[in-house]
Amino acid sequence: MTNQTNQTYVPKRVMVIVAHPDDIEFSCSGTIARWVKEGAEVCYVLVTSGDVGIIDAKITKAEATAIREAEQTAAAKVVGVTNVIYLREPDGMVQATMELRKRLVREIRKFRPDTLITGDPTAFWVGDSYINHPDHRAVALAAIDAVFPAAGMPTLFKELEAEGLTAHKTYKVYVTVWENATTFVNITDTIDLKIEALRQHKSQMSMDPSERVRERSAEMAKGKEMAYAESFRVVTFEDALPKAEPETETGEGATAMPEPTASTRS
Ligand SMILES: [Zn+2]
Repeated sequence: MTNQTNQTYVPKRVMVIVAHPDDIEFSCSGTIARWVKEGAEVCYVLVTSGDVGIIDAKITKAEATAIREAEQTAAAKVVGVTNVIYLREPDGMVQATMELRKRLVREIRKFRPDTLITGDPTAFWVGDSYINHPDHRAVALAAIDAVFPAAGMPTLFKELEAEGLTAHKTYKVYVTVWENATTFVNITDTIDLKIEALRQHKSQMSMDPSERVRERSAEMAKGKEMAYAESFRVVTFEDALPKAEPETETGEGATAMPEPTASTRS
């Protein structure tokens, strides 16, 4: 737990890679909303379109895909994100294969983020009432293996050069975590947008998410100078520091905490 100095970091280009529609809204859309307000350009990569996530015999997987993509696109728009890529891998069956790693390397080399957000592939047991979804684990592992070191190695997946894509090193990786967080981003000003984004996932909401989100985000913020927070573990690759725009260490914003606390789930 060494990354205590980057809490005020504002990225320029952010890619978020997740398994399902609504994963971003539960884990990090308050942070995204904040960074968009501060000028960041953001790209969402949805590995599946959540096609088995609507339990209704009358709805086919193709229809579910259309519904959930529309919900995700609407949720992205709430926080100012219009660049949403759907890879349409089969929901519930994702594996961290070399093929998926390559698909993600392609997206990373295309968008060239300075910051990548994904889940925690090591999160397996989460509290006593949830097991982290296998798609979450597989996508997180594939995304982390894609961003480091694969995307940055010129002779790995060299065939992507035929598509005009060359190696790209990402400066920071933000892993969304429930436990052992090193960085807490202050989402006090954007929690309403986070809730509004979540509400777009109508097919997944049996009740309004507001109360649950406020409760959990407040728990993340406990003991820090903020009302609501999202929590991450952050890895910084100093050799990939974007040259033109060095990181600033001043300003208001997220606060890093010396001791980990969070213990909730999505
Ligand atoms: Zn999910």
